[in-house]
Amino acid sequence: MYISKSFIPILKNNPSEAKIKSHQLMLRVGMIKQSSSGIYSWLPLGLKVMKKIEQIVRHEQDKIGAQEILMPTIQSSDIWKESGRYEDYGDEMLRIKDRQNREMLYGPTNEELVTDIFRTSVKSYKSLPQLLYHIQWKFRDEIRPRFGIMRCREFFMKDAYSFDISDEDAIFSYNKFFLSYLKTFKRLELVAIPMAADTGPIGGNLSHEFIILADTGESKIFTDKRIFDLEYDDTKLEKKSLENLRKKYEQFYSVTDEKFNEKEFEKKVDAPYRLKTKGIEVGHIFYFSDKYSKPMNAAVDLPGGKKDFVKMGSYGIGVSRLVGAIIEAKYDEKNEVMKWPISVAPYDISIIPLTNKNDNSSLDKANKIFLELKKNDIDAIIDDTDENISAKIKKMSLIGAPFQIIIGKNSDDDFLEFKEVGKEMKKINLLEIIKIIKKQKEKN
Ligand code: ATP
Ligand code: MG
Repeated sequence: MYISKSFIPILKNNPSEAKIKSHQLMLRVGMIKQSSSGIYSWLPLGLKVMKKIEQIVRHEQDKIGAQEILMPTIQSSDIWKESGRYEDYGDEMLRIKDRQNREMLYGPTNEELVTDIFRTSVKSYKSLPQLLYHIQWKFRDEIRPRFGIMRCREFFMKDAYSFDISDEDAIFSYNKFFLSYLKTFKRLELVAIPMAADTGPIGGNLSHEFIILADTGESKIFTDKRIFDLEYDDTKLEKKSLENLRKKYEQFYSVTDEKFNEKEFEKKVDAPYRLKTKGIEVGHIFYFSDKYSKPMNAAVDLPGGKKDFVKMGSYGIGVSRLVGAIIEAKYDEKNEVMKWPISVAPYDISIIPLTNKNDNSSLDKANKIFLELKKNDIDAIIDDTDENISAKIKKMSLIGAPFQIIIGKNSDDDFLEFKEVGKEMKKINLLEIIKIIKKQKEKN
């Protein structure tokens, strides 16, 4: 791909309306464009990153046995009246009337809709557990949309729902998602810490928010620093191992502000380990038992012949917010350098040739390298514009491909100027470059 042919509308300077680095960068390199307050179009660069994140999220859901469905964005108010949440949800819900004057809404979340799907199809304990997920746009009429796609009104979310017959089984499902979240965020190179959280309008009794540290985050957290050193082992999908995994994290005090209690904090965490700080919520899991299944009458036959309401949990990941969260974690604002994790980078590598009207040799070389990389499934972008090398490097450093090849006057065929962003320049041949990139891609 040539940059001159791509739709990457780059701005010369940081847009003044953006207060945090992710919002600045996303506007600066044309990843998104605001269409109205809290509502954005996703342009090629932004969409490419978001789709890659979506794919990793999907893959980790599939690995715990969750099955993908796709529910609509527009829902009928009837099911929300059944659960009792139609009034409770308040002004964050966008309410719409259709031409028959029926009350509809743009879904802010899907507990009701998935419960309705479940109750008409599943009748026996023999079909349980069921773990269903979808990745779909949501709308919440946030009172103060801000920070670009971090807190917007229309956003892309993965939400999953679990159905079980007993509390014990339901907690097993909950723990599967707990594991899958740790793995998902790790693949995105984020340190996301599970924090005991309040269940809010979703309701219920067990809940964790997954939070990454960031000064610009909107969640206040209180935690034992040692939780950051924990590594999960690739735990088996068994009750006992998953329970132990969760215990390993829960041994360290780590809560959001709704759960915070100063006395408890001081009692459980020795002074040197205490950390009060801010973070960005990227995922949230809940166990709420029969809060929806009971009013909506979603019951199954039990082994002895009796019936009972299914026990449910729900599990969200902010797929679009993650694009911003990764930038907050990785963008070096001072030097204006972004390095995307290779797993979600819009391009694996940028090729930066010196261009000269009378001499096409560097561009020819760039084209050859591009084709060779392509054969190896390495996605490159060539800066074929007439700008000088330093302007091109600056631009490519914002776009954020994790590797760069620079083709200047003095580069020969055997030794190319190659660097991994943030590291020293090396002179190596193309074969070695391919090896290095492939190795990094395989790790993911
Ligand atoms: P918050 O406290 O940030 O408003 P929430 O608790 O309302 O989040 P959930 O209902 O748990 O969010 O939604 C699941 C995930 O969706 C959140 O963890 C977050 O990553 C994302 N999300 C929620 N609201 C927004 C929003 N307005 N804009 C972008 N992403 C959002
Ligand atoms: Mg919210």
